[in-house]
Amino acid sequence: MAPPELTSRPPRPAVVDHVSPSLLSAWNRCRLRAGFDLDPAAGSLRRMGLRAAVGIVAHAVLARRFATHEEVADAWAAESSRAYALLAQAWAPASPPAPQNWPAWALTKHQVTKRVVPNSTTDSAVVTSAYGSSFRAPERLPLSRQTAPGLPWRERWLEDGVLGLKGRPDLVERASGVLTVADFKTGRGDLTDDRRDQLLIYAALVRSSLGELPMRAEIRHADGSAQGFAIRSEAVDDVVRRASHARSVLNDAATGHQGLEAAPGPETCPTCPFRVACSPFLQTYQPDWVCGQVVVGRVLSTGRLGARPYIDLDVVAPRWRSRQLRVVGLAQETPTRGEMFSVSDFEGSLGTGFARWNTLSWTWPQ
Ligand code: SF4
Repeated sequence: MAPPELTSRPPRPAVVDHVSPSLLSAWNRCRLRAGFDLDPAAGSLRRMGLRAAVGIVAHAVLARRFATHEEVADAWAAESSRAYALLAQAWAPASPPAPQNWPAWALTKHQVTKRVVPNSTTDSAVVTSAYGSSFRAPERLPLSRQTAPGLPWRERWLEDGVLGLKGRPDLVERASGVLTVADFKTGRGDLTDDRRDQLLIYAALVRSSLGELPMRAEIRHADGSAQGFAIRSEAVDDVVRRASHARSVLNDAATGHQGLEAAPGPETCPTCPFRVACSPFLQTYQPDWVCGQVVVGRVLSTGRLGARPYIDLDVVAPRWRSRQLRVVGLAQETPTRGEMFSVSDFEGSLGTGFARWNTLSWTWPQ
């Protein structure tokens, strides 16, 4: 018997007034992903992850100064508990792993501790040492620019209705006399195009708020290293133009005037939380893609194995999987027989899968 057909349900984005760096990043990878990002019905798929939790802890601790390493350890533990509570709330009733088991939690704690105790390298010193040989600060700045009110800005929310942009730069400061916008990253990684766009959006917002375009943009890592570039006004204007175009197309999709193009592939999809609801992905997905497995199928039956619920699926996609799959231990609500249902990020292979704490599910339209 032929498998049932997959009924596509494209995202229905809400109208967007302001483009954030994360929305532009999603847009650059895949238009459809940006649409899902703005779709209220897909909100349950946008959940905090373990790396984001580490970032929240690091940001909170980096914003303070401490007298001793013990004080830092106490603050790190308290912020980790707070982040864990957010994580547990996002994934309830599943139980996320304890902070000690989050990726790079211990390493980031070590790196942050070195930066927030007295006599450790300051933010400005890091910038100077990272760029000192290749970047010269202007000898003199107009007095009004040296004394701009309120700097440094730490995690100040900025938005501009005319530009249609919004964002929260981690830091805006004068480093060695140079107006600089910086974003802290807990992991390693290069200054990618996405990160450049993020910093250029912040630069555009700082220009509109402060009346002055930052001259430097940097990403700063928890180990004290930094990467950056000189900001050119043409580059800022270019990112403003691209964000405006994205907003325009997304709003056409929101009003039903235009569809959004999908870009399924091994580079774009593995990190996308909407795989479980994405028809183009499920029809393109190959077994050698490095991503958590995803399956969609018609629910044949449901039941319990001891205390653990299970569902049996007649698999519709991906087509290269065997037709029958039992998924055991879903924490989410059990679907009803006959529904089209998908599951992502489970363990196991062949005929039986086992849900993890971060397994996502999605009920498809009939
Ligand atoms: S799964 Fe892939 S194709 Fe689908 S929205 Fe995400 S990135 Fe785009």
